[in-house]
Amino acid sequence: MKTNTKILKLCSNKIRNSTRNLTPEASELKTQYDAIVVGGGHNGLTAAAYLAKAGKKVCVLERRHVLGGAAVTEEIVPGFKFSRASYLLSLFRPQVMEDLKLKEHGLRYHIRDPSSFTPLRNSNKSLLIGHLDMKKNQEEIAQFSKKDAEEYPKYEHRMEEIVKSIEGLIDQEPFYLESDASKMEALKKLYSYYKI
Ligand SMILES: Cc1cc2nc3c(=O)[nH]c(=O)nc-3n(C[C@H](O)[C@H](O)[C@H](O)COP(=O)(O)OP(=O)(O)OC[C@H]3O[C@@H](n4cnc5c(N)ncnc54)[C@H](O)[C@@H]3O)c2cc1C
Repeated sequence: MKTNTKILKLCSNKIRNSTRNLTPEASELKTQYDAIVVGGGHNGLTAAAYLAKAGKKVCVLERRHVLGGAAVTEEIVPGFKFSRASYLLSLFRPQVMEDLKLKEHGLRYHIRDPSSFTPLRNSNKSLLIGHLDMKKNQEEIAQFSKKDAEEYPKYEHRMEEIVKSIEGLIDQEPFYLESDASKMEALKKLYSYYKI
């Protein structure tokens, strides 16, 4: 909750600082809303939802016909829906899901197994990787390199360790590095996360 109050404060400050020299139309909007968020991508929508949850009247302005920014799903080919860019939820903070009751609003997520298919041009080979079953990943990689296939579990383990060590940082307030003392504090905090 402490983090979210800070997120809210940062949003409010940003909005307050960006409302100088307004046109008449913008001034009118300002009287109707406490906050105007330009861009309905997932960051804009999240900020708007937190502000609304805190009782603010919020207006989200999106220039496209659909909300979601890079995380949008669209029917590019008739009958087929695509994630246009962003589709992984690995950075989606559980606290945000909880605060905004996203599951109650219909959020569902699916584990990808396997997660990635790489066809090769001018070849019959392809790489289907990201299986939950490590053996299958190794079999796929072995088509190209037996040595890499053997090393792959070590590589995955190393990546997991790195992720674990920095994940805690994501929910933290950004460090303010204005003085040497706050730099030292930031370094100490960082050190406690980076225990690989
Ligand atoms: C190819 C690709 C793949 C990615 N894959 C992942 C992934 O799998 N998982 C992940 O977590 N992240 C992924 N990312 C990163 C993620 O997409 C971005 O971090 C995220 O989209 C940023 O969200 P945002 O709301 O800040 O901006 P955006 O998603 O870019 O949204 C900005 C919105 O603002 C609107 N807008 C801009 N200017 C104006 C204006 N003047 N007036 C009105 N509206 C405006 C735009 O139309 C858009 O809807 C990927 C990014 C790319 C490019």
